[in-house]
Amino acid sequence: MKHVLFIATGGTLACRQSENGLIPALTGEDLLTFLPELSTLCTITIENLFSIDSTDVTTAHRVQMAELIFREYANYDGFIISHGTDTLSHTAALLYHMLRGIDKPVLLTGAQKPIGVPDSDAERNLLDTFRVIAAGYRGVAAVVHGRIIRGNHLVKVDCEDMDPFRSINAPVEGTIAPDGTVHLCPQTPVSRPFELIPVKDTRIFVLRLIPGLDPAVFSMLSGYQHVIIEGYGSGGIPVYLETGLKALIEQGTNVYITTECLSGSVDLTKYAVGCRAAALGAVSLGSHTIADTVASILCGTLTDEP
Ligand code: ASP
Repeated sequence: MKHVLFIATGGTLACRQSENGLIPALTGEDLLTFLPELSTLCTITIENLFSIDSTDVTTAHRVQMAELIFREYANYDGFIISHGTDTLSHTAALLYHMLRGIDKPVLLTGAQKPIGVPDSDAERNLLDTFRVIAAGYRGVAAVVHGRIIRGNHLVKVDCEDMDPFRSINAPVEGTIAPDGTVHLCPQTPVSRPFELIPVKDTRIFVLRLIPGLDPAVFSMLSGYQHVIIEGYGSGGIPVYLETGLKALIEQGTNVYITTECLSGSVDLTKYAVGCRAAALGAVSLGSHTIADTVASILCGTLTDEP
């Protein structure tokens, strides 16, 4: 039987109603009492790391999760993190980049409804996560609504539906049928040693292009080392913003271009508006999601990853 470290951090699945709305209230021990069948799947140690809405999860909290897993790596066959769904993609992406060369499962899950309430997705998602560990998955991924999604491709696309996540620009890594049967896609062997990549640079800003954006905005961004522009379609910069962009790049800020589209790749060679941006020094983010880009900039690994 696999030995799993279950790390509880809060989120809706651990919430109870208060007079001020849903608030995380259940411990890891409380959560697991809803899943008696777990005793046949894994042996479990529980770590109540924190109990917060994922809105309040900071980079420091995420680093704490990565450090805990790194420290305990040899003692467990796998790690499960229960987490709020709202920022789960950011945690998954940062753990994916920080836990480089990991050869054990680190699985995150959350739910749209608290555990124990009618029609909650929490029980299934939590149980599936343990099933995926028992089936032998390796790497950092989210397990939600019957899908295994790699940590750097996860995006939350719906804040109400029970199927809120998608794997963007990559196929899912596997599925879990409603009867609990896990199907894992073939995984490539890990080719680098396991190491903990530290967070290096937090001076990141994401700017969304909107029609009529004031060009003066670029002069306000000079304190940031990295600016990600979420632009239109395949990428490009409107001509009236070029002067501001050029000045920002010339004073030393790294500027990257991604797209407001949910999937597909930025290609700055496709249109003249993109070629102009590239000539000014803006860098295409290709098919990376925002969460993945932010995490890889934080870890200084942006240029290393495919
Ligand atoms: N606000 C909640 C959180 O992210 C939402 C959820 O868990 O679904 O913690």
